[in-house]
Amino acid sequence: MYMSQLYSPTLRETPADAEIVSHKLMLRAGLMRRSAAGVYAFLPLGLRVIRKVEQIIREEMNAIGGQEVLLPIVQPAELWEESGRWADYGDEMFRLRDRQGRQFCLGPTHEEIITALVRSEVRSYRQMPLRLYQIQNKYRDEMRPRFGLMRGREFIMKDMYSFDSDNEGLDESYWAAYKAYARIFARCGVEAHPVEADSGAIGGDVTHEFMVLADSGEDLVLFCPQCEYAANVERAEGVRIPRGGDEQPHLGELAKVATPGARTIEQISEFLNVKPEDCIKTLLYVADGQVIAALVRGDHNINEIKLRKLLGCETLELADDETIFKATGAPVGFAGPVALSLPLYADYAIEHMVNAVVGANELDQHMVNANLDRDFKVKEFADLREVQPGDLCPRCEGRLEGARGIEVGQVFKLGTKYSEAMGATFLDENGKEKPVIMGCYGIGVGRTAAAVIEKNHDEDGIIWPVSVAPYHVIVVPVSMKDEAQAKASQNLYEELKAAGVEVVLDDRNERPGVKFKDADLIGFPIRVTIGAKSLEQGAMEIIIRRTKEKLVVPIEDVASTVKNLLKDGEIR
Ligand code: ATP
Ligand code: MG
Repeated sequence: MYMSQLYSPTLRETPADAEIVSHKLMLRAGLMRRSAAGVYAFLPLGLRVIRKVEQIIREEMNAIGGQEVLLPIVQPAELWEESGRWADYGDEMFRLRDRQGRQFCLGPTHEEIITALVRSEVRSYRQMPLRLYQIQNKYRDEMRPRFGLMRGREFIMKDMYSFDSDNEGLDESYWAAYKAYARIFARCGVEAHPVEADSGAIGGDVTHEFMVLADSGEDLVLFCPQCEYAANVERAEGVRIPRGGDEQPHLGELAKVATPGARTIEQISEFLNVKPEDCIKTLLYVADGQVIAALVRGDHNINEIKLRKLLGCETLELADDETIFKATGAPVGFAGPVALSLPLYADYAIEHMVNAVVGANELDQHMVNANLDRDFKVKEFADLREVQPGDLCPRCEGRLEGARGIEVGQVFKLGTKYSEAMGATFLDENGKEKPVIMGCYGIGVGRTAAAVIEKNHDEDGIIWPVSVAPYHVIVVPVSMKDEAQAKASQNLYEELKAAGVEVVLDDRNERPGVKFKDADLIGFPIRVTIGAKSLEQGAMEIIIRRTKEKLVVPIEDVASTVKNLLKDGEIR
């Protein structure tokens, strides 16, 4: 490819709406352009990267027996009604009607489509295991599309679905995909850590997310430095600590105190000169229409996913001001468990609290010395809090550490949620009809490419790992006007091309500084510079993008040196 012909308009200035480095660099390096919020057009260099990531994924999916299919983007509402998700999916789903008024959506995911496909063909245990995957656009009307390809509304996903006749089969499919994911991300040049995760709306219980650790990540991951434990904060388990010592604590007298204007835990603990961990936060929720209260320690935050699971409810929302007033008799900020006639659900950390500060269900009033059982009764204790860095590891004695992560992939054991709802059954060895057992496995292709940039860049631009670089090498003559340089560059370009190296020749009549800047910005792993002086000495310069190392190599050895450098897919 000649640089003069390549449609890759680079930008010197950083576009104003780009917040994180991968987004900025993808725009600046001319990999893509924005069409609408969360919707992007790929330009030739960007598309080459995407195709390379896809190809790595494809190879690894094929290696575990995956068969590639291509499912429709336009999906009929009826299938989603069968699974119950037409109503559940909410505003994230792009919905449309055809000319007859029939309802469709643009696929945000493909469990329904694939289950419908398989139910009419798979009838016997002999037809399984079956692993089908596709690489295709997904559509989700995200509340906050941002960070370029990280959170798009139209984005490319690889999604695989496995079908097995028993749980052992599902186990095999799951761990095969899990291991393939580790290989995929490693081959793309990023380390992705598997962490225990929440399965969200998709269903099932066992699931792992693959996280690339980066400050720009939207997820919080907790991991134990002493054991293998790692989990998304959505999932991370709080430890139930047994009461220490036999001594009966001294229970103070329950008393009301005036706390004018103090509503938040910070304000109250400052006002009463107590620690946040001596206060109880009382949060009112509406769960499937019923008002309930959840209690967590003042220095803790509630994890709504855990609360929702405990209650087994479909909808869960923080109560609004009016509901709070009706239920407590006080405005927001003064709710407390004493004499509150609502079902109370409390986090384990509340179990051993003594003489707590709580809201008094009265404007500008709190209570001190509130004690469990004596002053209020809890309907159920559970792990309800959001685990924080510094908390105990649920598996060992260690203390958890926190890091931000980019979720590049997720694997789920779905079980029979979709097959049961949609009637995808088979006959087992004994002729007994059973629902097929499913798993699903997604990778964000664009998000992975963006994560690669987050982990591979410097102040000059992208540093592509060879495996996903749009081209391997750029040949840069210092001056195209110098005939010797032009000729030597052309020769090297031809030679590299013939040797199967993906190469660009920067044949533009630009100043060398401009060409070098573009080469660094786009991030070609190798640059070969051809200048008058080195040519006279029969040499060219090979510059390695990652290390900026410069090798002066005799002209006749340049192509073979380049090939050798690229050989391992990684430049050392
Ligand atoms: P998130 O929690 O980030 O919204 P998700 O858990 O809803 O993602 P999945 O349904 O697990 O996403 O989709 C599989 C993969 O697709 C994710 O691991 C991620 O890499 C990618 N992905 C999901 N949503 C987006 C998006 N809006 N833009 C780009 N990639 C996405
Ligand atoms: Mg996910």
